[in-house]
Parts: sequence; C-alpha cells; structure tokens
Amino acid sequence: MKRRRPRIVIVGAGFAGFECARTLSRLAKGAAEIVLLNPHDYFLYVPLLPEVAAGLLEPRRVAVSLTGSLPGTRLVLGQAHGVDLDARRVHYTDPEDEEGSLSYDRLVLTVGSVNKLLPVPGVAEHAHGFRGMPEALYLRDHITRQIELAGAAGDPAERSARTTFVVVGAGYTGTEVAAHGVLFTDALAKQNVGLRDGPRPRWLLVDVADRLLPGLDERLSHSADRVLRSRGVDVRTRTSVKEATSDGVLLDDGEFVPSRSLVWCVGVRPDPLVDSLGLPTDKGRLCVDEFLGVPGRPEVFACGDAAAVPDLTRPGEVTPMTAQHAQRQGKAAALNVAASCGQGARRAYEHRDLGFMVDLGGVQAAANPFHIPLSGPLAGALTRGYHLLAMPGNRIQVAADWILGAVLPRQGVHLGLVSSWSVPLDTASPEVPRLPGGKTGRS
Ligand SMILES: Cc1cc2nc3c(=O)[nH]c(=O)nc-3n(C[C@H](O)[C@H](O)[C@H](O)COP(=O)(O)OP(=O)(O)OC[C@H]3O[C@@H](n4cnc5c(N)ncnc54)[C@H](O)[C@@H]3O)c2cc1C
Repeated sequence: MKRRRPRIVIVGAGFAGFECARTLSRLAKGAAEIVLLNPHDYFLYVPLLPEVAAGLLEPRRVAVSLTGSLPGTRLVLGQAHGVDLDARRVHYTDPEDEEGSLSYDRLVLTVGSVNKLLPVPGVAEHAHGFRGMPEALYLRDHITRQIELAGAAGDPAERSARTTFVVVGAGYTGTEVAAHGVLFTDALAKQNVGLRDGPRPRWLLVDVADRLLPGLDERLSHSADRVLRSRGVDVRTRTSVKEATSDGVLLDDGEFVPSRSLVWCVGVRPDPLVDSLGLPTDKGRLCVDEFLGVPGRPEVFACGDAAAVPDLTRPGEVTPMTAQHAQRQGKAAALNVAASCGQGARRAYEHRDLGFMVDLGGVQAAANPFHIPLSGPLAGALTRGYHLLAMPGNRIQVAADWILGAVLPRQGVHLGLVSSWSVPLDTASPEVPRLPGGKTGRS
C-alpha cells in the first residue's frame, strides 16, 4: 500500500515563510507535500516598499511570484482565520470569500506583523499605515493627488496644507518614507506649473525618541538626520501627536500642522492570528523555544515577526522584528521540521546581527554592514547591491527601474485604484485592500 506523504503547511509567505518553503522543497525532494497558504500570490520584498510609494519602483518589481519561484511548493490562496490545534487543521478564507481548510502533519506559522495603533484621537480615522502593498500604492497616488490639487488651489492655506506631509515614527520605515517622499514631492512640484515657483513641499518626521532610528546604531541616526535635514525635512524628535483631524495634526508641543497627509509608522504588532491560537505569547508574539517549536505542540513551529524567538546572542531577549532574522529563522524552521520528520538533526537558532541598511533615496543611505558605519554614495551603492542580492527574484526589473529613475523624470500619475477607506490603519490584514462590503480581509 502506498504511504501518504506528510503534509507540511506554512502559513504566510513573507521572509520567513518563503525561505522555509524554499529550504523544505530542497530537503524533501518530493517526500513531503509542502503547502504554502498566503492571501496573495507573491512574496513581498517589504524593504523596497518606500520606493514604490515614491514612484521609483513599479509595484510588481517588489512582488516576486510564488508559483514561479517555488516550483516544489503548492500555493493555496487564502487568509488563515483559525487553527484547530487538536484536529491539526487550518481554516482559511480564499480571495473569493469561500471557506477552506487544510489538514497538516506539521505546521509553520509565519504570518508576520500588522500596523501598531496608539490610542491617539483621530489617528485611526485620518492616518494610514505602511506595512503592505495596498498602503504603498495608496500613498503614491495620494501624494501625487495632493500635489496636483495644491497646484490648482487658489487659496494659499489650502495649497500649503496639501503640500505638507507628516510622518509619525522615525524607525527605519518612517525615516525611509520621509527620505524618499521629499524627493518625490520635489520632483512632482517641479513639473507642476502652479507650484514650480512657490515654496517647496514640506515634510515633517515626528518621533517621541530623542533621535532618528532609535533602535539602531547611533552613527546611522546621525547620517540619516544629516541627509533628511539637508533635504529640508523638519525632523521633530521628543515630539508626539496629540490629535489628528481631517485638517491636520496637533502635536504635543501645541503646534497645529495643517496637512491632508498623515503616515503612521510607529511600529508593528504581531498578526492577530497569533492571539486567536490561545497559546502563550510574549508582547503578542507566539512563544517558541530556540528550535522554533511551540512548547507542548511538537508538530507546530513559528518564526519571523509573529514569534518570540529566544535570542541566544543576548540571553533573556527575543530576536528583533527584522527581515534579516525572519529569513534565517525560516531556514532554521525548515531544518527543524525536517528533523522532526526524521531527516537530519535539529539545531538551535542563533544569529548575530550583521548590521542594518537604511535606504535614503537618491544616492544616499545610512548603513553599518558588519557594524562598520558607512554613509553617502558608498552606503547607497552597498544598500542597493544588498537588496538585489537579498531579493529572491525580479532583480533585473528592479535594477532597470533604478537606472531609468536616475535618468528620467518621476512619473506624476495617480491611478486612484486604492482608495483611502480600503486601507484603514486599524486592520488585521494590511496585505489585502478592504473591498466594498468589507468581506475580504479581517479588518
Ligand atoms: C517599510 C518597511 C521597511 C523595512 N525594511 C527593512 C529592512 O531594510 N531590513 C530588515 O531587516 N527589515 C526591514 N523591515 C522589517 C521586515 O520587513 C520584517 O521584519 C519582515 O518582513 C518579517 O518577515 P515575516 O516573514 O515574519 O513577515 P512578512 O514578511 O510580513 O510576511 C508575512 C506573510 O504572511 C502573510 N499573512 C499574514 N496574515 C496571514 C494569514 N492570516 N493567513 C495567511 N497568510 C498571512 C502576509 O500576507 C505575508 O505574506 C521593514 C519593514 C517595513 C514595513
């Protein structure tokens, strides 16, 4: 009698899930069925999203086809909304709102993170996050539209509000959004006859911390600070938002900034699926051991942003939410899943941080590869080279967009396909836009 192949279900095809599927396919060589459950059919290279929002990269460049790059894996399109741990079954909703379920022998949870909200009046209604493709597409269109409406506005107050952009949170996401954003709006304003001779569009980057890039090496903060200020970005550290309205943003120092654009980059929290499991968590992340296994559930593994993975290089801490860790943990999880099926020996996850790269647009970046601080064009070239190497596909397309972006003017076109209400800040699924009726997504 033919023996059934074990089925390994991976939920989430981001940095951790993609790498886990890729490694398992290589190891299993057909001896196990590898199923990848994800709401969309692409791996999103999140670190380049600010370049999508700034009109430098076309969206499909940072979306790598899952079926095209993972030939040994079966892709199931759907959003998991529950896991029956005793019955070993994942329940999901597919993109056409049909319900489905998958049984598993091994489960790997790599569902990543979603926007973090703070209880600030008006923010949920008037701010937009920056975690997924729909938000990046929305922001690109929104910025373009604001510049165009400002160019046609007769009222100077309206023009000023429409050309003022507020980014809250000066971590790598907010810093990159502001750094790329200011270059984008300068380029659009130059093309617009109503704005060409007026004041430059204004960008504010606000954070409660006393420096940009608070969690990173201080030398990166200084480089980023210098670049942003040289571009005219109003960097407001030790400042927070007290209230957001449709007309602007009230800061805690009492200043009201008239604006139609509030980008919320205050951080992320683990995907709410984790909470629904009823398993122990640490700051919302699923607790796992150093082998990325869930204690008491030998068939369940988790890693990436969604899991609290013990950091063996910093005893007592968990690994930070970065792509660098997520990708390596995905590989480690695959090896340990294989070991649990009798192939190879399991090994503890341990990785020492190799430094960070913050792309600031133009030829600028702030980076510390192997903890050597770099800035300027050298850092810019290294950062781009690193991204090309780290991407699992679409490298030529990304490089081509960069070359074209260096010689051609930025395209001032808003397609208006993603509307404001379809990318709410408070959503459990930033990876998919909310549809009329609110059925798709779990917002
Ligand atoms: C703008 C930005 C820039 C960044 N830049 C950097 C950087 O330069 N370097 C760095 O190290 N890190 C960077 N990060 C952080 C990095 O992107 C994350 O740490 C990394 O993506 C985490 O990987 P992951 O696999 O855990 O989650 P993700 O990459 O977010 O993948 C999660 C996957 O799970 C899917 N999913 C979610 N919920 C469900 C569900 N219920 N059912 C099925 N599938 C689901 C999602 O659609 C997604 O495909 C950046 C983050 C942002 C937002």
